Amino acid sequence: MDTAVIPDAVPRRRPTRQARVAWGGHVVAVGGDAPVRVQSMTNTDTVDVIGTAIQVKELAQAGSELVRVTVNTPEAAAAVPAIREQLDRMGVDVPLIGDFHYNGHLLLTQYPDCAQALSKYRINPGNVGKGDKKDRQFAQMIEVAARWDKPVRIGVNWGSLDQELLAALMDANASLPAPRDAQQVMYEALISSALQSARRAEELGLPGHQILLSCKVSGVRDLIAVYRELSRRCDYSLHLGLTEAGMGTKGTVASAAALSVLLQEGIGDTIRVSLTPAPGEARTQEVVVALEILQALGLRSFVPSVTACPGCGRTTSSVFQELAQDIDRHLRAQMPVWRAQYPGVETLRLAVMGCIVNGPGESRHADIGISLPGTGEQPAAPVFVDGEKRYTLRGEGIAEQFLDIVNNYIRHRWGHTAPAK
Ligand code: SF4
Repeated sequence: MDTAVIPDAVPRRRPTRQARVAWGGHVVAVGGDAPVRVQSMTNTDTVDVIGTAIQVKELAQAGSELVRVTVNTPEAAAAVPAIREQLDRMGVDVPLIGDFHYNGHLLLTQYPDCAQALSKYRINPGNVGKGDKKDRQFAQMIEVAARWDKPVRIGVNWGSLDQELLAALMDANASLPAPRDAQQVMYEALISSALQSARRAEELGLPGHQILLSCKVSGVRDLIAVYRELSRRCDYSLHLGLTEAGMGTKGTVASAAALSVLLQEGIGDTIRVSLTPAPGEARTQEVVVALEILQALGLRSFVPSVTACPGCGRTTSSVFQELAQDIDRHLRAQMPVWRAQYPGVETLRLAVMGCIVNGPGESRHADIGISLPGTGEQPAAPVFVDGEKRYTLRGEGIAEQFLDIVNNYIRHRWGHTAPAK
């Protein structure tokens, strides 16, 4: 038998400089030894101060550690300090990021209260102006950031790539003896645009640790290729995200596929999942997905995990699906309170299994596991706590009894007393 030691699949984070995104006394470090951060973006009209503040609060409560708002007009710039004040009144200290395109140089200089109320700026070098205006307008924004000590994400997007840079790289490529294909030139243009802008920002006085980079594309393999190369060429903190990921399952899976490969390689200091909400769907879904990606990779823990079997012909009723769903809902609903009351509760692992085939084994690996009766099995549900069978539940109230066991376990384990017996 080959007894070679199998190496752990724990990603080794690529070393990056650390940016500090702050509001008041609340600092969110990004990069370096900080955990991979979750961020999101509002889709309200920024001019709607109350509506935007409420959505920022919802995103923050869902787990978003940074929230971006679009700052696209003078009215939006004027609304930003009011949004910040409203958040402060509501006790929400999440840092706000301003997203600037085309007129950012004007808004940041003409609305100093906006520049100050934001904790970080996002600048797209493809959208800062053309010709000689480009350098001048970019410099204006960087000077504001340096003056207020605000970090800046230089966020390149292939939908708005700097066309002058792309044309120059295409021309240079065409004159090579063996020209690279157009896709390779596009990758190079994205990376060069980010790196050239970052170096220019440093020359203008913005410290390197306050610069973050992103090069967003909408193809999973394109994103992986671009970020691998970008991370090889610099040590700026990197913001990961698949742009225009799409809706529902497609957007979720594409984002998870792209981000997981990079995060497992140690690439990425903050992530955003760009989901298009279905009509009526909560904006917070993009945060839920981002948290789940980090938790599934073992990079961070946010909510207790529930392992549930998929069910099969042995589970002809929906009892175990309902129980798994009830438990998941209960845990998520309680987390805002438990997070403060029981630090560490987010590492709890539960198992809800449909029959005795894998039920007892999987349940023993969890902190608390229940193995429900499958078709033709005795109507009894053994419950395992810390690997040992402790209870057998029967009758109609299995779900309530199981939740009582979970609540007691949490109270005893993270309420700093002995575990429940
Ligand atoms: S644990 Fe039982 S019910 Fe669940 S998938 Fe496996 S065999 Fe089917």
